[in-house]
Amino acid sequence: MTERFTGSFTQQEPIPEAGIDAAMAVLRHGRLHRYNTVAGEVAETALLEEEFAGYVGARYCLALASGGAAMACALRALQVQPGEPVLSNAFTLAPVPGAIASIGARPVFVEVTEDLTIDLAHLEVQARASGAKVLLLSHMRGHVCDMEALMGLCDRLGLRVIEDCAHTMGAKWRGLPSGRHGAIGCYSTQTYKHMNSGEGGFLVTDDAELAARAVLLSGSYMLYARHRAAPGPEVFEALKLEVPNVSSRMDNLRAAILRPQIALLEDRRARWRVLYRGMEAGLAGAPGVRLIPRPQHEDYVGSSFQFLLPGWEPARVARFVAGAAARGVELKWFGAADPQGFTSRYAHWRYARPEVLPQTDRVLAGLIDMRLPLTFSEDDVAQIARILCEEVASAARAEQLEPVAAPAAD
Ligand SMILES: *Cc1c(COP(=O)(O)O)cnc(C)c1O
Repeated sequence: MTERFTGSFTQQEPIPEAGIDAAMAVLRHGRLHRYNTVAGEVAETALLEEEFAGYVGARYCLALASGGAAMACALRALQVQPGEPVLSNAFTLAPVPGAIASIGARPVFVEVTEDLTIDLAHLEVQARASGAKVLLLSHMRGHVCDMEALMGLCDRLGLRVIEDCAHTMGAKWRGLPSGRHGAIGCYSTQTYKHMNSGEGGFLVTDDAELAARAVLLSGSYMLYARHRAAPGPEVFEALKLEVPNVSSRMDNLRAAILRPQIALLEDRRARWRVLYRGMEAGLAGAPGVRLIPRPQHEDYVGSSFQFLLPGWEPARVARFVAGAAARGVELKWFGAADPQGFTSRYAHWRYARPEVLPQTDRVLAGLIDMRLPLTFSEDDVAQIARILCEEVASAARAEQLEPVAAPAAD
């Protein structure tokens, strides 16, 4: 009998009871706005920022309405101007180029390697060709590039780096938390990320002027002194009439939900690692499948799993994805002609200048992606891997029985 997986790839864990209690307290007193405090009260949002700054070892932290808002705020804090080129990964998710476009700047895409990290040689080519001064580096799906090599190159090229850590909250490179290598680190607390407040985000930096600009940009009115993980008033004095208010604050309700989750990040990382390793072991040796090697210095959070089907005809990949779906295994294929759900790729972002990136096209044509929510057990992961191995074999058999016609060019 063919087995079928019946779990949900989109079901996250519940909010911890401490977060529910804290949220109820905020609802009961009604002061949801971060600057709505009574005498002597410190807002949940200000406490959250202080605690998250402590967690990643940053001097300053600002909580925002979303990860996308954090990236746009970071670009504005760096004073990127309309029309200015901003480098980013060709393999990332839509909010990344979207943040660049939201300030009227121009995304310039850099090729991805077979290990799903940014191609440093192409980064240098694109930096020189475009004259860009900023790289919005996306640690897409949690794959971290060689950060010493990247920062060395960016320093040589005069590039400031913003890290998009939507998939690397809790991850490290050579012991340094993701988001602490560049000038600014951005995180998301959207439901599918490593902490869940529905929507939300953070920005961290050690640079006092960038931090003050970010706080003012987020919409602090003249109440910035109520922040705790922010620079002193003297830094704001010089900027407060110059920086526009682009309202994108976090509120105390979400902050209350998030605060108890910081302490859970280490345990979540360990549990994700077990699921990730289980999937890796289950798929090892499957013919036609290339697993993504994880560098020794990368301390990753395995909240999702990727593999490549190098050189597979699109029709064969489509048959594999459909076969897995029929057995309850939801895969995302970044090579499909049209984006589905979250799988849009650089050529779909038509507001950006068209670019030809053959290496990225080749990698994404065979890139399969799946979530590994913490509601999965080790048995679930083993079952999913068994189903995938059978479907890989069956896609290969079908190929021999009825070779597919060459796909129409699109
Ligand atoms: C989720 C995500 C973001 C930020 O998303 P928001 O939904 O705005 O919080 C940024 N980059 C990547 C790669 C993401 O997946």
